[in-house]
Amino acid sequence: MGTVKENLISINERISEAALAAGRKPSDVKLIAVTKTVTADRISEAVACGVHELGENRVQELCGKYDDIENVNWHLIGHLQTNKVKYIIDKVSLIHSVDSLALASEINRRAEKIGKTQDILIEVNISGEESKFGITADECVPLCESISEMKNVRVKGLMTIAPLAETRENTERIFERLRLLSRNVDERKIDGIEMSELSMGMSGDFELAIAQGATYVRVGRGIFGARS
Ligand SMILES: *Cc1c(COP(=O)(O)O)cnc(C)c1O
Repeated sequence: MGTVKENLISINERISEAALAAGRKPSDVKLIAVTKTVTADRISEAVACGVHELGENRVQELCGKYDDIENVNWHLIGHLQTNKVKYIIDKVSLIHSVDSLALASEINRRAEKIGKTQDILIEVNISGEESKFGITADECVPLCESISEMKNVRVKGLMTIAPLAETRENTERIFERLRLLSRNVDERKIDGIEMSELSMGMSGDFELAIAQGATYVRVGRGIFGARS
């Protein structure tokens, strides 16, 4: 691994190449630097290199770093417990991991209290892997229909995490299924539900995700090196 700066240059090049290979614009793919276990000074190094989007999967870690890093958008990408929404509602630009009506309702209630409309993604467990959070593909339209009634929550798209042990072929198929599901939801024209974002792809598989339409890729180790 190189320095954070070198790694970022390389990841950004690979993102551009994957986008162009898929006939897409590199600027249509946004890089989220995943900062779990990474200290504030190394995060600042990434921010100094032009990173604007940061992702954390734990509420406590996000809150701990929030005041130390300025001029970035925070993304909550990990599982979110309903009782922790109150800690992050004023801090995050996008919540990627909404997987129940109860969670969406709590986000709506907390967002209303502070006069915010919170952008969210629905997390779908496409692979059906038992250890994964997320709703099934079949639950997606009904959940979107229920959320459609909420005034302070706006669905922007879908998110998934591919299992680590899959073959590249199976991983790409999982990303393809999320893209097709997103199109299917979009065609229902549910009031207030947008399907403009697809959050998929991590250090090991972001190029496959870009080939299948990812608009957000979430990269940790590829930028900051292995986590201890
Ligand atoms: C840790 C994490 C990532 C980044 O994984 P890397 O393999 O370090 O790129 C992406 N998404 C989620 C939800 C994560 O928890």
